[in-house]
Amino acid sequence: MTLLDAPPQSSEPSPNAVDACRHIWATESAHTTSEGSLRYLRCTACASRRVELRPYGDAPAVPVTRQDIPPR
Ligand SMILES: [Zn+2]
Repeated sequence: MTLLDAPPQSSEPSPNAVDACRHIWATESAHTTSEGSLRYLRCTACASRRVELRPYGDAPAVPVTRQDIPPR
């Protein structure tokens, strides 16, 4: 079979235990950039990490990391 016959890959992220956590994000550190406030968040429940950019003004925060980073 050729590549064209291959079934489409699922874009769903594989489930794991961290997904079950209702993350409670605490700001671990933050610094100001020209784009806005860059915040390093850490879940107080499971220790996953996330980085988000909170632009100036009323714009919503933009996640920088595509997925939360699970604890080691
Ligand atoms: Zn969590």
